[in-house]
Amino acid sequence: MSRPASPHRVEELPLPTDRLGTRRSLTVHRFGTPGARPKVYVQAALHADETPGLLVAHHLIRRLRGLDIPGEIIVVPMANPTGIAQIVEGVHIGRYALDGAGNFNRDFPDLIDGAAERLKGRIGADGKANVAAVREALRATLDALPPPKGEVPALRRALLGMAFDADIVLDLHCDLEAVPHLYAGDALWPDLADLTALLGVKAVLLSADSGGKPFDEACSVPWWTLAERFAADGPIPPACVATTVELRGKADVDDDRAAADAEALIGMLIRRGAVTGSVPGPLPDLPPLLCEATPLSGLARVVAPVSGVIAFHRAVGDRVEAGDPIADIVDPTAADPDNARTTLVAPGGGIVMARNNLRFASRGELVASIAGPAPLATGEHGLLFD
Ligand SMILES: [Zn+2]
Repeated sequence: MSRPASPHRVEELPLPTDRLGTRRSLTVHRFGTPGARPKVYVQAALHADETPGLLVAHHLIRRLRGLDIPGEIIVVPMANPTGIAQIVEGVHIGRYALDGAGNFNRDFPDLIDGAAERLKGRIGADGKANVAAVREALRATLDALPPPKGEVPALRRALLGMAFDADIVLDLHCDLEAVPHLYAGDALWPDLADLTALLGVKAVLLSADSGGKPFDEACSVPWWTLAERFAADGPIPPACVATTVELRGKADVDDDRAAADAEALIGMLIRRGAVTGSVPGPLPDLPPLLCEATPLSGLARVVAPVSGVIAFHRAVGDRVEAGDPIADIVDPTAADPDNARTTLVAPGGGIVMARNNLRFASRGELVASIAGPAPLATGEHGLLFD
């Protein structure tokens, strides 16, 4: 007889490190029953300097402790112990690994080819059976990968290992200054309209595959890619609803907002049957949607063509039209102060989704991002700004 799982268990998952005398681990909060469905995975601060998710995870864990979890919920409140330690001259470097391993939220293992190989002859008419077969094939592929070559690849592997077979994956991030927004796969809209409404999200950026192998896509993209490859054999639904949740800007951190955001996540979990029982009050009715989903390829990047002081004309959340001035880049050293400004305009209409949080730009630096309704001509950047 196995003992019933305790409602809340906290585990330390040791991580390999590359330097003698250093030790790191992930703290993993587990709720419900391992292996039970639906399985939900939530992590925060994979980009270790993105603090809003840390406080949301804290509130989420407090709330989940009092609720009935019919399936399994895993919360990793601080997903990047390597990045949290990266202080250089008093400045936290949380987006890129200082050892050269790149952006922490890129280059997650790609399980698609390995899973496809294992699924030959195993996909049939029963979609539910196909979901189980795909999860099994993804697990076998993950288990057969060669050992990770370094601390950061090992961290990526450990995180993916907890999330790849979840029904819902929420990766909590933030932008520099921003309105709340989501990144997700085309196939997950309008499924994610509940989270969009509950969180007051103002931009949802969809793509089939951004190309950067971020965490959410490592979990979700295999589903529709395998569905395409096996379309002749049977249906494979998008059984992992994974999204990168951008919780406004880096400094938008306070208990009221974090508690409200955690409540929004709980609301989504209630609606999806991942939380039941002693929930106070009625099931949350969905507030109205504040945006429609738009293509990630419609996200305009306003980049500084020269260096200087950023003087913004527009705030995050503003609606703009093509040609509207977004910011001036001011050169205070100009001999003629009446000729010291370069005005940056919106390349297309949309909502000012994010802005730089600094006010001095290098040449080529991102100043603002505008989420527009239609794909733009391919620019110099990939779908994800690194
Ligand atoms: Zn991030």
